[in-house]
Amino acid sequence: MIKARGYGVVSGDKTVKPMAIERSPPKPNELLIDVLYCGICHSDVHIIDDAWGFTLYPLIPGHEAVGRVLSVGSSVTSFKTGDIVGVGCMIDSCLKCPACKEGWENHCEASTGPTMTYGGYLVPDGSGFNTFGAWSDKLVVREEFVLRIPEGMDLAKAAPLMCPGVATYGPLKRFDIKKGDKIGIVGVGGPGHLAIMMAKAMGAEVTAFTTHEWKCDAALKLGAHNVVLSTDDEAMKKYNNYFHHILSTIPNAFDPMPYLALLHRRGTMTVMGLLGPYKNIINNIALAAKGLSLTGSMIGSIGDTQEVLEFCAKHEIVPIIEMIKLEQINGAIARLKKADVQFRFVIDLKA
Ligand SMILES: [Zn+2]
Ligand SMILES: [Zn+2]
Repeated sequence: MIKARGYGVVSGDKTVKPMAIERSPPKPNELLIDVLYCGICHSDVHIIDDAWGFTLYPLIPGHEAVGRVLSVGSSVTSFKTGDIVGVGCMIDSCLKCPACKEGWENHCEASTGPTMTYGGYLVPDGSGFNTFGAWSDKLVVREEFVLRIPEGMDLAKAAPLMCPGVATYGPLKRFDIKKGDKIGIVGVGGPGHLAIMMAKAMGAEVTAFTTHEWKCDAALKLGAHNVVLSTDDEAMKKYNNYFHHILSTIPNAFDPMPYLALLHRRGTMTVMGLLGPYKNIINNIALAAKGLSLTGSMIGSIGDTQEVLEFCAKHEIVPIIEMIKLEQINGAIARLKKADVQFRFVIDLKA
């Protein structure tokens, strides 16, 4: 076994502390990675708090990692020692089921689904579980799940592309945006700030929605054409039937009905990152009357993750981050709960 350091929580404690852990040495198709940077995701906070009821302890979060390859297994052909790589929400899947074969590893149909980077199954047949995430000095990942960081990209700033980057890029790509399409982005946090920049680069007229007054200016600076304070009913009404598509990045229970009113006939609203019920019961008349689609989304495929890295490199889209040291994790989590970050915390594992 490989000795490693992790930063996480044990059952009954919500304070992140250093932990000594062991990792299995890389199999022939796996890489050992020295983690340099890792983002703090809203889902990390939910899982530390066991808000979804499926947290496995001990828990070491972290699924937005950038690191350097320390060693590669004997059958690895795409990477070599010293390469700079990224790791997102998954580190393995069956790669045999129809979903995996079509490139939707995130929808793997094996009984345990894909192996999540943390709190996942160590082997896809379910005979062992609880992987440890990337708030750690070392990570072991299957070759097919390792991302290539484009040349010249700032390594710390690349980290958020591995989760909120792909999680918003995927739905935007499936909106099939044409130049001038009117796109609403709900929430101006880690995912939302990236979605604003990416939708604009795809040619959309972008309107951002936020409940925080201080984020209005920030959204315009990011390139949004319009910004709406969603608590202002009059401001919301001005956009009735306006949007071709809306992407919500709100991770907590909310009422989608006010946003459905803003969709143009046959429009789509994709709700990314909400993994529980809506706050209100949805009245289907809102969908039926205009032929709307309400869809859900979380994480993304490996193909889309590599694509978003290249898309952002090409369009010079750079995530805005606040870099922290390991000892600042607990303070950062407290601030994230108050949406007090522009726009993503990234841990410098070497600081
Ligand atoms: Zn995440
Ligand atoms: Zn599969």
